[in-house]
Amino acid sequence: MSDARLPSAAEFNVPMTATALTIAGSDSGGGAGIQADLKTFLACGVHGMSAITAVTVQNSLGVSGIYELPPHAVAEQIESVVTDIGVGAAKTGMLASAAIIEAVADAVVRLGVHPLVVDPVAASQHGDPLLRPDALAALRRSILPLADLVTPNTDEVRLLTGIEVGTHADMREAARALHAMGPAWVLVKGGHLTGSAATDLLYDGTGFTELPSRRHGTPHTHGSGDTLAAATCAALARGLDMRAAVHSGKEYVTAAIAGSYPLGRGLGPVGHFWRVRDLPGSVN
Ligand code: PLP
Repeated sequence: MSDARLPSAAEFNVPMTATALTIAGSDSGGGAGIQADLKTFLACGVHGMSAITAVTVQNSLGVSGIYELPPHAVAEQIESVVTDIGVGAAKTGMLASAAIIEAVADAVVRLGVHPLVVDPVAASQHGDPLLRPDALAALRRSILPLADLVTPNTDEVRLLTGIEVGTHADMREAARALHAMGPAWVLVKGGHLTGSAATDLLYDGTGFTELPSRRHGTPHTHGSGDTLAAATCAALARGLDMRAAVHSGKEYVTAAIAGSYPLGRGLGPVGHFWRVRDLPGSVN
């Protein structure tokens, strides 16, 4: 797999002028959330910035605590970087509560944050909730209409649309239902379905594109959803159009899953640095 538009090792030695912002939660275990996003941004050659929504107490075994930030503190972080550094593209991950969702939506509109990738994070792979149940309506009402791309897995599809995805036909129905909620593009992720291929479905309101990839039989995929959304966001920040950005994001996360590693006693993270292994001083 090679993509001439991806940064070469030499490019990492020059200042990164493309900028990307993640609006998401912190994972103290370093595999998902803000930490995954910033590693992905770096590996994809963009300057990463963060607006933290909540701090999770988390390791490879699961989430044992969540400390939400005040909604105005989330909005202030966004405003601070937009008005000074500038944001080439942004993504949302764990938004935690309805009040934080409303604050983020208001800041996105007021400050013209665009393009916006929305990963509608609802729970961790262990099943720990990362979104209050009453926040789903706010996600549907206030964030999805602002999204240039929304990237739900099949669990998130069920929560947002009520559609139980079991087949490729269900994926199409879900993509249509989600598109009707306002996002310009929808990527329904099929990674949770059974079968040898992890096929995702991309929909822009007119045509469907299937994105197949070989399924890797590893349980160590912690942070894979965040990583796909962040890599796609980085590609948008570097100026790719949506279709090319989604392909680039999928290529990045597929290789990161192939390079995942066990850590702790539970689920290990995907390997974010596969693309920069040849850099001087690189550790993996
Ligand atoms: N923790 C945080 C803070 C996250 O943002 C996410 C993102 O989805 C997760 C955990 C879940 O990661 P995973 O579902 O890969 O375990």
